[in-house]
Amino acid sequence: MRVLVTGASAGIGGAICKRLARNAKRDGKTLQIAASEYAQTPDNDAIRIELEDMGAKVITPYADLSDPNGPTLLVETAAEEFGGLDAVVSNAGLVIPGLMKDLKVEDWDLVMNVNTRAGWLLGKAAYPHLKASKGAYLAIASMSGLGPHPDLGAYSPSKAACINVTAMMAMEWASDGIRCNSIAPGMIRTPFTANVYSNNELANARNDVVPLGRVGLPEDIADVAAFLLSDDARYVTGQNIVVDGGFASSILGHIPGRPSKKE
Ligand code: NAP
Repeated sequence: MRVLVTGASAGIGGAICKRLARNAKRDGKTLQIAASEYAQTPDNDAIRIELEDMGAKVITPYADLSDPNGPTLLVETAAEEFGGLDAVVSNAGLVIPGLMKDLKVEDWDLVMNVNTRAGWLLGKAAYPHLKASKGAYLAIASMSGLGPHPDLGAYSPSKAACINVTAMMAMEWASDGIRCNSIAPGMIRTPFTANVYSNNELANARNDVVPLGRVGLPEDIADVAAFLLSDDARYVTGQNIVVDGGFASSILGHIPGRPSKKE
């Protein structure tokens, strides 16, 4: 598989890269992977070394995905190096907390540009390559895209649009043999959320509200990502798969005064 993964750091992106490398090794194949980052960092070197140790051919291109040229640059670099692309994972994302009444236009724009526009531009640039390979596109959205997530500024609207853009591409490109899906992770322990989980009380409180009894790990998302990119998902397109331990579905269980069966 020839794949580009954005935001390929220690969090969900890094776990996806490692899962794809492990699967390729298991299948006796060589993964060719562009593990891209915002900038050249020690994190990036660490993931490159780990992936190479698993037998993958790795490049680590970097670009600012808030720049409209960033996504195209990454796709072109990867496609040129590998002679095409079989998959693109739009994983990079950010949150700038804020209230709707106070939010600055530049914060709205930055979040929308990285979380939504960059995903579309990655897909747009990769389209000819994915058409040639009958490949797959995957966006890492969020459960925050399923409904309003107060105090998180443009994050929730950006992820709702990310899910919709992915479904748009899925419908327009299905006849070309390209599959496009998104994953909506729930609460996942990553560098993105490290502050929250460094507080034990808060971490336990979060575990308690998840029906499966724990907050998620990057590997919980990576396993579903690997499935969606694989031939096992050959008949799956236009879907948003919620991977949250049941949290988003649990809302009706919290209604006070639920009727109980009369004896
Ligand atoms: P993470 O480790 O912080 O990953 C986010 C990545 O995006 C980082 O590598 C970051 O680079 C990169 N990025 C941010 N702005 C960028 C820009 N302008 N250009 C290029 N790259 C940029 O966090 P994560 O939790 O694994 O997040 C991965 C994805 O999952 C995100 O889209 C996030 O919204 C989504 N998600 C996470 C959770 C969760 O609970 N963790 C839940 C739902 C959805 P730097 O490190 O250099 O800033």
